[in-house]
Amino acid sequence: MKNPNALNQMYRDLAEKEKSYRARALKMYPHICGSCSREFSGKGLKELTVHHKDHNHDNNPPDGSNWELLCIYCHDNEHEKHKMKGYGGAEKEFQAGGFSAFEGLDDLLGNKDGKKK
Ligand SMILES: [Zn+2]
Ligand SMILES: [Zn+2]
Repeated sequence: MKNPNALNQMYRDLAEKEKSYRARALKMYPHICGSCSREFSGKGLKELTVHHKDHNHDNNPPDGSNWELLCIYCHDNEHEKHKMKGYGGAEKEFQAGGFSAFEGLDDLLGNKDGKKK
C-alpha cells in the first residue's frame, strides 16, 4: 500500500472544505438563523451552521447564493422536511460537517421510517 493515509487525507480535505465555506458564509451573512431568527455570537456561533439550499455540498458559488445560515436545530428540521420528500441528503451533510451528535439521531430516524436502504 503506497499511501495508507489516503482516506484520512480525504476526510481532512472534506473538513477543510467545510471550514472554508463556513468561514466565507459567516463573513457574508449576518450571524442570525435564517429560520428562527436567533442571533449568534462568540461561543454560541458554533451552533450556527451552513445549509446548502439545494442540498448539494459541492455547489458552493462564490456569491453564497446556495448557502443559508441555520442554527443546528433548524438545520436538522430542514433536513427532516427534505427527507420526508424522499431524498436522503442529510446523513452525508452532517457527517461531512463532523456533527457527530447527529449521527446516532439520523440512524434512529432512518431505522424508524425504514426508508433507508
Ligand atoms: Zn434556528
Ligand atoms: Zn443542510
